[in-house]
Amino acid sequence: MRLYHAILVLSLLIVGINASFQAVWLSQFSKVRDSVEEFSSSWLPAVRLASALARLAGEYRRMEMDYLLTEDHRELAVLTRRMTRVTAAIENAEMRLAGLMATRSERDALTTYLESRSRFQEEHRDILNETLAGHPEVARNISAKGSAQHFAAMMASLETIERLNQESGEQAVSNAGRLYRRMATTMLAVGLGSIALAVAAAVLAARRISHPIAELANCMATMPEEGLPGCPIKQPGRAVQEVSLLYRAFQNLTGQLALSMKRLEELAVTDQLTGAANRHRLMAEGIRAMDLCQRAGSPCSALMIDIDHFKRVNDTHGHAAGDAVLRHISRELVRHLRASDLLARYGGEEFVILAPNSGPEEAAQLAERLRRAVEVHPALAAGATIPVTVSIGVAGGQLAPKDFESLLHDADTALYEAKRSGRNRVATAGEPA
Ligand code: GH3
Ligand code: MG
Ligand code: MG
Repeated sequence: MRLYHAILVLSLLIVGINASFQAVWLSQFSKVRDSVEEFSSSWLPAVRLASALARLAGEYRRMEMDYLLTEDHRELAVLTRRMTRVTAAIENAEMRLAGLMATRSERDALTTYLESRSRFQEEHRDILNETLAGHPEVARNISAKGSAQHFAAMMASLETIERLNQESGEQAVSNAGRLYRRMATTMLAVGLGSIALAVAAAVLAARRISHPIAELANCMATMPEEGLPGCPIKQPGRAVQEVSLLYRAFQNLTGQLALSMKRLEELAVTDQLTGAANRHRLMAEGIRAMDLCQRAGSPCSALMIDIDHFKRVNDTHGHAAGDAVLRHISRELVRHLRASDLLARYGGEEFVILAPNSGPEEAAQLAERLRRAVEVHPALAAGATIPVTVSIGVAGGQLAPKDFESLLHDADTALYEAKRSGRNRVATAGEPA
């Protein structure tokens, strides 16, 4: 999976969780708001109306008592008007209260109240009629028995309504509290979930991105002098695609670096014109070969080869032809060598052959073979056949332990001898040419 895909999925997940949390929160909040609204719009007014009704009914009852006790007709008329007004207020309050009755038991209590009130009023009409008919004793009797009983029933119903409303108010408050607690729990759960998700994302990112990159950086930081990484570059199993690509690119880079270094190493020890070893390699291998030969007690020889009158070749055929002759001689020489022998270009037109495990006689035979091969194979360059010869100085053997420089010096002395005695010949150190 690509890194940005992983980040996209995680982001969508977090957005989704938060959106659902918001939805849950909003629905819970609206429920709480409804409960609180119900509490303030229904419960409190209902309780207030019920107590107002009780007060009005009490007033009506008191007026009824006054009515029974008075004998003044004018006063009776005033009382009747006032009682009508109170009845209107009672009916108005009853209507409003009926609109606030939410539960069945509240509605039942209201019905009981209304029935009691209607009976109370019927009784009251009888009291009024008996009073007006001049039978105050009968009227008092009705009031004491029936009306009082219905009045008490009315009051009891109003108390029931108040109590029921109080209970439903308390219920609404406790519902609101419960909903708030649930909301808090949900918030906590969503918060913890988000933290867990963030931690998981961080761990994932660390395992699949940071750790592999740190490993790679560590490998690069511990590169030894040779230039290759200090630890094997393996593609990590859990890395994201981008990091894997980085690993592959780094593997390619180190592979190319190794090839380039090998090529550079070869170039550093090779003569560019002839392809033979250069002087630097000759000296390094010569010292090692001498050491090995001396330890093994076997002979080690060196041949110093110089082209005869090479200046004339350049002068006659040009420098490019001279280069071609140098390459030709190099090819001729190398053709007769053993795998363990090393041909090196020592200077301008001078070559050295290092021949480990060869005694002076063997080396002299080799030198003679080489001299002869060059003599019989003229070079072809610049459209001309150019005959060339070489003089060779040979040094070696197991005489006294020597260093490589001394061996070369001896070979050079022998070469001088070969030149001095006429060129195109072989001279061995310590022997007359
Ligand atoms: P001798 O038989 O005494 O060795 O004579 P010589 O002419 O070979 O010796 P000398 O040292 O006088 O000349 C060597 C010449 O080799 C001089 C130089 O111009 C030539 N030479 C050296 N290196 C190169 C090279 O890389 N290419 C070419 N074309 N000529 C070179
Ligand atoms: Mg020379
Ligand atoms: Mg020469």
